[in-house]
Amino acid sequence: MKFGTKVIHAGIKPDQSTGAIMTPIFQTSTYVQTRPGEHLGYEYGRTQNPTRDVLQKNIAALENGNYGIAFSSGMAAMDSLMKLLEPGDEIISTNDLYGGSYRLIKTLYERYGIKSQFIDMTDLSVLEEKINDSTKMIWVETPTNPMLSIIDIERVCRIAAMHGALVCVDNTFASPYLQNPIDLGADIVHHSATKYIAGHSDVVMGLVVVKEDTLADRLYYIQNAVGAIPGPQDCFLTLRGIKTLHLRMERACDNAYKVAQFLKNHSMVGKVFYPGFSDHPNHEIAAKQMRGFGAMVSFDLVDNSVEKANKVLSNTRFFSLAESLGGVESLIGHPASMTHASIPREERLKTGLTDSLIRLSIGVEDADDLIDDLETALKS
Ligand SMILES: *Cc1c(COP(=O)(O)O)cnc(C)c1O
Repeated sequence: MKFGTKVIHAGIKPDQSTGAIMTPIFQTSTYVQTRPGEHLGYEYGRTQNPTRDVLQKNIAALENGNYGIAFSSGMAAMDSLMKLLEPGDEIISTNDLYGGSYRLIKTLYERYGIKSQFIDMTDLSVLEEKINDSTKMIWVETPTNPMLSIIDIERVCRIAAMHGALVCVDNTFASPYLQNPIDLGADIVHHSATKYIAGHSDVVMGLVVVKEDTLADRLYYIQNAVGAIPGPQDCFLTLRGIKTLHLRMERACDNAYKVAQFLKNHSMVGKVFYPGFSDHPNHEIAAKQMRGFGAMVSFDLVDNSVEKANKVLSNTRFFSLAESLGGVESLIGHPASMTHASIPREERLKTGLTDSLIRLSIGVEDADDLIDDLETALKS
């Protein structure tokens, strides 16, 4: 099955009791047993839910894995992945990453004895140098947030394999339409499905995909023990969003290319970060491991003026000033004060995240209107 067919059909069958073509929302907390221990595979709503099952099967197929596991948010999913680690274990992560992921590792799991290092993985000799016997997990975001740096997943997996560390790729920015980390050797794929996968800014959802049986068993155990599960209504909304993932990504990527070109040629704009530019660092790796360059674009103004950046951020019409990304509508954001405020300023500056950096999530509107909107805001 090809991707565009999988989004519609993988794991999805008409309801057996009614023929309903759409997956029903099984809004139930428990299931009737015929005699003690005799049931249809469903016992309790935290443990199993048929709407959630369909979503889990579908995402597993989209990521070319064998098992999907759904959580109430991207962070809940990451929290459950962190529970694979023991006190004394170390996680090495990319240094340019979602602020909440940094916060979880640094301010919560450090207290439980999980060690961490945040490193630049655009040059993997740093990872080769830092990885050690206690490193049990490598956390990779690529493209990174918000600098859109590209990390060579296949090479990370080769280095990790020599040390027996699990590789987990946060694939939120690429979506399964553009990048499948399991095919490149990753053990775990993580998604904030709140973003491109659900795609309509109306649901918060986390998804994890793995290939290996024992890893899946451990994660289903954690999912049930912890209980950070999504409700059936949210599973339904995510399944509904997925049906157009390929169409939305195509349009959003086309729009992002046009917007990035416009910004690059604008006299008031300084650096533009977009993996599709041939001079973007590691562009050739992006071209190799992704099927498109994504729909996120970050940029700075020529003089790095925070005041002028604030004017741009407050003067767009179609780009809404908001956190998040990956919805049908375009968003504009200020990472330093919004998504990345929980990362200390000196850490942020190390990755190039200046106080004036602007991040765009390009939606599926008409590209001409988006460009006009930015032109007006830049003039303001
Ligand atoms: C939003 C986001 C998260 C967190 O996911 P939630 O669904 O908001 O909990 C994690 N990683 C990345 C890259 C994100 O963009």
